[in-house]
Amino acid sequence: MITLTLSALKAATDGQVVASKELKDLSVEDLVIDSREISSDASSTAFLALKGPNFDGHRFIEQVVNKGCRVVIVEHEITDLDCPGFDSSVIAQLIVNDTRIALGQIGAYVKAQVAPKTVGITGSSGKTTVKEMTGAILSRLGNVLVTNGNFNNDIGVPLTLLRLNHSHDFAVIEMGANHMGEIAYTTALAKPDVAVINNIAAAHLEGFGDLCGVARAKGEIFSGLGTNGVALYNKDTKYTNKWQWRLTDKNVGTFSCAGEADCYSSNVQLDQQGCASFQLHTRLGQCQIDLPIPGKHNVCNAVAAASIALEFGASLDDIYQGLALMKAVKGRLNLHQLTDKRSGCRVKLIDDSYNANLESAKAAALLLSSYNGQQIFILGDMGELGADARSYHEEVGYYAKELGIDQLFSLGVLSQSASDVFSKKEPEQQSAEQGQHFSQRLELMNRLCKQIEQYLAQGQQDIAILVKGSRSAKMELVVADIMNWF
Ligand code: ATP
Ligand code: MG
Repeated sequence: MITLTLSALKAATDGQVVASKELKDLSVEDLVIDSREISSDASSTAFLALKGPNFDGHRFIEQVVNKGCRVVIVEHEITDLDCPGFDSSVIAQLIVNDTRIALGQIGAYVKAQVAPKTVGITGSSGKTTVKEMTGAILSRLGNVLVTNGNFNNDIGVPLTLLRLNHSHDFAVIEMGANHMGEIAYTTALAKPDVAVINNIAAAHLEGFGDLCGVARAKGEIFSGLGTNGVALYNKDTKYTNKWQWRLTDKNVGTFSCAGEADCYSSNVQLDQQGCASFQLHTRLGQCQIDLPIPGKHNVCNAVAAASIALEFGASLDDIYQGLALMKAVKGRLNLHQLTDKRSGCRVKLIDDSYNANLESAKAAALLLSSYNGQQIFILGDMGELGADARSYHEEVGYYAKELGIDQLFSLGVLSQSASDVFSKKEPEQQSAEQGQHFSQRLELMNRLCKQIEQYLAQGQQDIAILVKGSRSAKMELVVADIMNWF
């Protein structure tokens, strides 16, 4: 973070300072919202007390002050009535109406001071991947700040902006939402030069009603663009009409992995690991791209990242080299090559346990179907899909069946619809693929181990297992079980 004086914090938040005269000139180098993050030398750290339905940061003021914090940002003045024996004369308090809003205001202030070239990225799937890809390319042009992990909401975006300092040339900001207005809020703070919608799909439907609602919510990202800003969106996605009205006075670019656009892919080839090579077409010309991470859908993500990088002056060589360095993001289609100790047989385990929605589950199934040998799809529940959740699970089951995947094991409640339709035998079919449902992880593991042993006994040389599910389904535990078994 840049150094912030108390008066700058006051001006940014329109707050009120309560501090003795000698503390009024304090400045801070860091701001935290979690008292556990405060190190032993906290004299230049400010603590901002957030309040939520189940917590209140104001309860930790005494603790953070004991750790040496001298600036606290709070919604009411803290006195010894709040904390008996507390000496408020040792700290400066910035009192604001709403600490959550103040966090955003301070983030926006830091962003405006540093003024890096900024991109905001939203979409239903692939935000984190596109963000990492963009970061990898732009780091060839300068120092890049990239959202940490998945810090993409109305708290995560301001915290990301706070990490900016004057060494940063670029900021790559992931923006997610589970309710209307969230992206309008975060984009107003980040004020991106380039705003991107990667795709629209059935995700977080409970907060948006339907896919039109998702599209409208994602379209909010364009409201943060200034007049010289550039709006980029995926031409392949439906519902693009939901945001056209926002673009009448903006520079607009499109990208596609299914047809022609300002930036697009053609001639996609998958290697044995499922990693794609393709021809990238841009206004600077064409080049071949070889992605080091699996999944055909990553072609779309790479084209999005390339479109962004071009707006910031990247060359085709920067794009090629940057994407070549891309590493798989934890839990997103991480490919593990396991060896069975008993038979020496190699098994591919694809860990896609980080999250799931309809499109990403289909993308994962497509990848699995591209592998040689026996394919086992382990699907946990996909959450937040609203009233039609069961039919979305069925759609995944039908899709996996259509792709010819050998087995679908489901775990949870909703995902049973996927294994049920997967098992359904069509009249003209000789034998149905096998779908099985489990309500307990242990049962699933027992069945899976038996299945693998059976395959090995049959002399199968290639087995691929893909594990997918929403965050709430905790499918990473299944991944860990499988890794332990081998
Ligand atoms: P979140 O909403 O959880 O932040 P995200 O949009 O950041 O997700 P990623 O974390 O990049 O998305 O990817 C999540 C999962 O979505 C991956 O495991 C992958 O299977 C799938 N995925 C990524 N990109 C795409 C895409 N372009 N189309 C379909 N599925 C995708
Ligand atoms: Mg993400």
